[in-house]
Amino acid sequence: MNKLCRFIADIFFPNRCPLCLDFIRWDEFICSHCEGALKSFPEEICPKCGKAECFCDTISYDRAFACFYYEGKAKSGILSLKDGHKEFGIYTGNLLGERIADCKIKADAVVPVPMSRKSYRKRRYNQAEVIAERIAEINSIPLLTDLLYKNESAVQHTLTKAERLENTAAFGIKSRLRLYDKKIILCDDVITTGSTMNRCAALLKEMGAAEIYAAAAATTKLKKE
Ligand SMILES: [Zn+2]
Ligand SMILES: [Zn+2]
Repeated sequence: MNKLCRFIADIFFPNRCPLCLDFIRWDEFICSHCEGALKSFPEEICPKCGKAECFCDTISYDRAFACFYYEGKAKSGILSLKDGHKEFGIYTGNLLGERIADCKIKADAVVPVPMSRKSYRKRRYNQAEVIAERIAEINSIPLLTDLLYKNESAVQHTLTKAERLENTAAFGIKSRLRLYDKKIILCDDVITTGSTMNRCAALLKEMGAAEIYAAAAATTKLKKE
């Protein structure tokens, strides 16, 4: 939605913060109170794998950016993003885009982690793409949405760890495009075990990509299993 449309829409449907539901200005994505309560880019998160509990030895991407821990207000934001409200995706996409630009990373394109057709039909947008769009815009690079696919399979977070590893087989390459020597920003909403990012990064490298930067709105803390 462009700015004018957002402004006009706000007259009829006043803009609300997706985290606390307070009214906010038409051009804001979350309220200043919630923004103040969120601590972005926690320092304990490993810059390479994107987890506080580093698992760098097993990853196929080269660097990771995660705005928040998946908890509290950030978790509410992600849940709202999956429930029809794109604001938190735009907000975190802006944060990631600016962070990546600040780090002087010159990527060639942004690729959102794909969702299955069935999930897409249900939600009518890919939440990873909402975030990815902003990263692409801020860094003035193309958004490539047709490189990878995801087949229908069980929802990731309902699976056990072993099943989840298996489930990554659901992803595949659907484009003949070659990414020789390209640097790609791979974008998802949450890094959970890292297996989704890992699988998609491996596929992009199969297509020739030289470096993959994983960018996510949030990363989970290790669950005591
Ligand atoms: Zn708020
Ligand atoms: Zn690490």
